[in-house]
Amino acid sequence: MGNKYDCFNEKLVIAGTNYIREKLKIDENIWVFINDGKNFESDKHSGKFEKEVGVIRYNKDFLKTATEEQVLKLAFHETFHAFQFQEVFNYNQGIKSKVFSEEELTVLAHEFNPNTKTEETHKWHELLSEQQAETFAHFMYEKYKESFSGADMLIEKYLDMFPNLE
Ligand SMILES: [Zn+2]
Repeated sequence: MGNKYDCFNEKLVIAGTNYIREKLKIDENIWVFINDGKNFESDKHSGKFEKEVGVIRYNKDFLKTATEEQVLKLAFHETFHAFQFQEVFNYNQGIKSKVFSEEELTVLAHEFNPNTKTEETHKWHELLSEQQAETFAHFMYEKYKESFSGADMLIEKYLDMFPNLE
């Protein structure tokens, strides 16, 4: 696809993202970027999902030194946010979710509403969207270890599945 990757973890984070995109059937129009650390609030920010635009960004500087487990849990976590975002979008159009309850969708819709300043009113770990994404990342990491012989196998199968932008 003509993408250039500066290190192994950049391939791994994209392959991990694509693995979840396929599993959860996420809309193919989401954008995924690997950006320099200066695009993030601090070097502790490994990645983010921008709910205003539906974009996933990974921190290039974080990826330079992260472990395989950190990279994959990051990919699974952020990609799950894209899934939540999609389910909320559908819910707002009147389409029911097969995964989330009405109650969960009401909370998620509030947290994903760009007018809700969740950062100010809640602690990060209290948000349902974050709790779900963390739980999912841990669950999928276990599943990944059962399903693949290692990172090389995941990359081979998933790296080029979707076009990713730089
Ligand atoms: Zn998150």
